Amino acid sequence: MGEKIKIAISTAIQAGGSLFTPEQLAIISRVAGADAKIEMTTFKQLYVEVPLERRDTIKEKLERYGLEVYPAGFATKSLIACNFCKGAEEAGLVTAQVLNKAIAGIETPTSLKIGYAGCALGTSEPLLKDIGVVKMRDTFDIYVGGEPKGLKTSFARLLISGLTEDRLVPAVTAIIDYYKAHAKGKEKFSKFVDRVSLEQLQHIAG
Ligand code: SF4
Repeated sequence: MGEKIKIAISTAIQAGGSLFTPEQLAIISRVAGADAKIEMTTFKQLYVEVPLERRDTIKEKLERYGLEVYPAGFATKSLIACNFCKGAEEAGLVTAQVLNKAIAGIETPTSLKIGYAGCALGTSEPLLKDIGVVKMRDTFDIYVGGEPKGLKTSFARLLISGLTEDRLVPAVTAIIDYYKAHAKGKEKFSKFVDRVSLEQLQHIAG
């Protein structure tokens, strides 16, 4: 048997949350094959192993059904967004989709989870993510360094408040780029934030 590679599959960012259609589940099952194990991750992606030489063909096929395919492992995960229950406009659905396009699947020293909440109720738990974005009326707040794993958990801390929509993607991508360039080996993002300091990250993202 040839070499296999794990791919991460997610739904588009949409109102209602991570909703799969029956057709999408059927195509995932078809490309995975009868013996496959399909893993449900904690970050709203499905992990599936596929033959390496068929990866691109499978990706195209899944995308034709409206699914998104990203690398598994050490990369930014697709945006972990809320359900946009306040309505697409008020909760910033389009902004979240643009943010997801800009940040999902970037190779990083360790995997990075980026959360998005359409209001301060934060039902997608943005303060438990490496980077959390919260829409506050017409502007956005960015939190960094949430650590939900292990016994020394911590909430993400407020990095920038009151960002306008046009400054959101540049700010988040600047943080990711800085982490990629300055992490020590496989340094966890929360440790990285503690080491470089909030002030330095504010400077980078501002
Ligand atoms: S974060 Fe706000 S807008 Fe998003 S699902 Fe939760 S309550 Fe609704």
